[in-house]
Amino acid sequence: MLPLAVGTILVRHVLPDRLSRLLQLFARLPGVGEKTAQRYCLYLVSETSGVARELGEELLRVADSVGPCERCGNLAETDDAGHRVCPICKDHRRDAHLLCVVHRVQDLLAIEKSGAMRGRYFVLGRLLSPLDGIGPEELPVPALFERMRAEGVTEVILATPPSVDGEATALFLARELGRLSVRVTRIASGVPHGGDLEFADQITLGRAIDGRRSMGD
Ligand SMILES: [Zn+2]
Repeated sequence: MLPLAVGTILVRHVLPDRLSRLLQLFARLPGVGEKTAQRYCLYLVSETSGVARELGEELLRVADSVGPCERCGNLAETDDAGHRVCPICKDHRRDAHLLCVVHRVQDLLAIEKSGAMRGRYFVLGRLLSPLDGIGPEELPVPALFERMRAEGVTEVILATPPSVDGEATALFLARELGRLSVRVTRIASGVPHGGDLEFADQITLGRAIDGRRSMGD
């Protein structure tokens, strides 16, 4: 058994090894501390409604069939034909000419919650970050261009976060996209500088999308 990372030598000698292992796994999840991990474990083994089994089966299915959407990078489930296209890319009521570029899936979810975005998305997965050695060639620009070509995109909203890396990425993309005949806009300020879109409230995010401004003209 791996040693418990959460300073619970006591737990290791009191609980079965298997449960200690589960506790250790829960404690590795973001935002889950030792106490919460312990609460989860005790709940799962004590209650009788079958949540433990259902959770285990569902986790296996998710691990096997859920991954990035092949068009936008949002999360999607693999279909019978082996394709992975997310519900937003499949939704024909969405405006295909409007594409919102975000850093992470969390940002996409935050913007969706605001209800202000009627187009589709493109998830970059990373931002320019010279300090972390992430240069322009690490960004999925060819995939973004291909997506724009395939869907006839006419406006790209750059919704990278208002941090140093997020602004640098937006400026870089605006320059790259300036070579194409598309409108390039940046979400308005209002989201605090250095802040995470994920933690901005829905009204602020909705206003930031509605109040977007053209870049580079
Ligand atoms: Zn998608």
